[in-house]
Amino acid sequence: MHSALKVLIVFAVILTGSLATAADKPKHIIVLQSNGQNFKPWSEYLKAFRQELERQSPLPTVVQTFPVAIAPDSESAERQLAEYLNALYLNNPPDLIVAFGAPAAGFAQRHRAGLFPATPMLLAAIDARRIQETRLGANDAVVPVWIDISALFGNILQVLPKTQTIAVVIGNSPNEQFWVQEIQSRLGPLKDRVNLLFWNDLSFEEILRRAATLPRDSAIFWIQPQIDVTGAVHEGERALKRLHAVANAPIFSHDDAFFAGEIVGGPMTSVEQGSTAAADVAARILGGTKAGEIRTPVLQYGPAKYDWRELKRWGIPESRLPPGSEILFRPPSTWDLYRWQVLALFLAIFLQAVLITVLLYERRGRLSAEIQLRQRMSELAHVNRYSTAGELTASIAHELNQPLGAILVNAESMEKMLASPSPDIGELLQIASDIRRDDERAGKVIQHVRSLMKKTPIDIKPLDLNDVVSETLDFVSSLAIARDVQLRGSTAQVPLPVNGDRTQLQQVLLNLIVNALDATADKPIRERIITIRTWRSDHRAAFSTSDTGPGIAAEHLQQIFEPFFSMKPAGMGMGLSIARTIVEAHGGTITAHNQSHGGAIFSVTLPLIG
Ligand code: ADP
Repeated sequence: MHSALKVLIVFAVILTGSLATAADKPKHIIVLQSNGQNFKPWSEYLKAFRQELERQSPLPTVVQTFPVAIAPDSESAERQLAEYLNALYLNNPPDLIVAFGAPAAGFAQRHRAGLFPATPMLLAAIDARRIQETRLGANDAVVPVWIDISALFGNILQVLPKTQTIAVVIGNSPNEQFWVQEIQSRLGPLKDRVNLLFWNDLSFEEILRRAATLPRDSAIFWIQPQIDVTGAVHEGERALKRLHAVANAPIFSHDDAFFAGEIVGGPMTSVEQGSTAAADVAARILGGTKAGEIRTPVLQYGPAKYDWRELKRWGIPESRLPPGSEILFRPPSTWDLYRWQVLALFLAIFLQAVLITVLLYERRGRLSAEIQLRQRMSELAHVNRYSTAGELTASIAHELNQPLGAILVNAESMEKMLASPSPDIGELLQIASDIRRDDERAGKVIQHVRSLMKKTPIDIKPLDLNDVVSETLDFVSSLAIARDVQLRGSTAQVPLPVNGDRTQLQQVLLNLIVNALDATADKPIRERIITIRTWRSDHRAAFSTSDTGPGIAAEHLQQIFEPFFSMKPAGMGMGLSIARTIVEAHGGTITAHNQSHGGAIFSVTLPLIG
C-alpha cells in the first residue's frame, strides 16, 4: 500500500475516534440566575427548565448555575464576574449560556463580547421590554414574555369591582424601579378610578404594617420585593407568606411562580410555558441549530387561574371570573375523596345482587326440581300402590266376602220370616239393620281400596299414627290369613299425633308388611309371624314391623333402600325406596336391622306435633 494512503487511513481512524468522544461528551450549560438561586420567580423557571431539558434533549447535560447579584458598584462587580467565568472555563468553554430574568440577561448582554462570544446564549423568563435588541447577535436566542400590566390590574377591578386602593409591593433595585415606572405609565388612565400606592420606598417591615391596615376595598399587587430600600434581600417565599399572614386585603401577582396559596389569581405569566419553551430552544441549540435563527414569539397569557380558597376568603363569586378560568385548590368533594370506597361499595352491592339473583334462580330451580320429584314420587307411589293391590286382591275379596255373605244369610232369613203367617216385625227390623251394617262394612272396604288406588295430591294434616297403623292392619289382616301368617299388632296407649298424608303413610306400612309377608313365605306356617308396634319416644312417634323371615344379608343392608334393588325374581325394587322417600318427606327416618333371634325389623320415626 502506498505510504501516503496509509497515513490518511490512520488519520481518519484518529479523527473518527475523537469525533465519537466529542459526541459522547455531556453538554455543558452555564446558567446565569438573576439575584440568586432561590429568587422567585426565576428559581421556579430554572427548576422546571432543568426537568424539561432532561425530558426533551437526548444529550447528557451538565448545568452550572451562577447568581448575578446586584452590587453597590455593579459595574466593577459585573466585570469581575465576567472575568471569573472566563478564567473558570478558559480551556473548556461552555456549550450554552442561559440567563433567567432581566438582571442576569442585562449582565450577559452587557458583557457578551467578553463572555464566550462563540458560545450560543439564551435569554429566558425575560420581559420583551428588558431585552437590548440591538445587542442581540447571531449566537443569541430569546424566549420573551410580556407582563401585561393593563390585563393584570384590569383583573383586580373585574373580580373586585369596588376596589379603590391598590398597593404595589415591590423593591427598589434598578430592575424594580423600571417596573414602578412602567406600571405608573401604563396605569395612567386608572388614576381617577383607583388610588395606586407604590411601596418601593418602604422597608419590608413597614410594608407589612401598612398591609395590615389598608382601607376597605383595597387590593395588593405583589411583585417580589427583591431588594428593598434598606438593602434587605428577599428570596424564597417567606416574604409573601408573611405578607399574606398579616394583610387585610387580597393579594394578586403577575407570575404563577407565586401562585401557591397566597395569591387570588388571574392572568399570569406561566412558569411551565416559559420554561418548556426555553428548554425547547436550548435543546435545539444543543442539537446544532444556530441560536440567532430561532425566533420565539412573545409568550401570551393562558387562561386565568384562581385559588378557590382565596376566592372564598374574599367573597369573590365565580360568576365574576373571566370565561374559561381555571379554579385550583378546590377541596376535594366527598366523591373525590371516597371515590374508590364508593365504587367498591357499589361493586360489592352489585356482586351481592348478582349473587342473590343467581341463588334465587338456583333456589327456584331446586324448588321446581323438588316439586317435580314429589310429583314423580307420587306417581311412582301410585304405580306402587297398584302393584300392591295385586297382592291385596285376596284380602279385599275376603273383606268383601264376609259382609256380603252375612247380607245373603240375613236376606234369606228375612224371606223365610216374611213367608210365615205372622212375621216378627221386631226381629225383621233387627235383621234389616244387620243388613245395613254389613252393607256399610262392604262399602267401607271398597272406599278404602278406592282411596288407596286414587291418585290424590299430597294432603298433609294432623293425624294419629296409631289410627293409621290400625286401619292398615285391618286392611291387610285377611291377606295375612290367606298367606297363613300371624299378624300381631300392638299400638301405644298414648296418642301419636303427627303431621302427614294418611294414604302415603299407610303405603309405607303396607310396603313393609308385604315385604315381611314375602320374607316369611318359606318358613313353616307356625313360624310365620309379623309384629307391628307403635310407640312414643322423646319427641317422636314410631312404628316398626318385625318378621321371622331370614333377615337381610349384611352386605345388602345399605342397598335395600336404593331404587331398583331387589332380590326377588319378579321384584321391582321400588317398595323400600318409595317408603324412604315418603318418610323423609315427612321429616322422619326409616332404618332396617336384623334381629338377634332372626328376622328383619324395620323402624320408622316421625316428628310428633303438639
Ligand atoms: P321388592 O320388594 O320389589 O324387591 P323392595 O324395595 O320393597 O323391593 O325391597 C328390596 C329388597 O329388600 C327385597 O328384594 C329384599 O331382598 C329386601 N327386603 C325387604 N324387606 C325385607 C324383609 N322383611 N326381610 C328380608 N329382606 C327384605
